[in-house]
Amino acid sequence: MRIPDDAAAACPVCGNAYDSVSEHDAGLMVNLLDNERYRRVCFDPVGVDGEPRVRFYHHTHGQTAGGGCGGPPVAPE
Ligand SMILES: [Zn+2]
Repeated sequence: MRIPDDAAAACPVCGNAYDSVSEHDAGLMVNLLDNERYRRVCFDPVGVDGEPRVRFYHHTHGQTAGGGCGGPPVAPE
């Protein structure tokens, strides 16, 4: 994982402000149930030097109040 220094000022997925962003090149587990700091993470696929990466935009509870410009959250069935 690395912290990209060229990330967008606002989340490219939902358009809201975010608290932090991380970039990943391998699978990982995400569980935000009852997380006190973060309410949502948006995932944005990007290419870095020709390699696929996924950037995680971490939103706090306050940053997810109100609607974003993205679609509704995807919930596993
Ligand atoms: Zn977002």
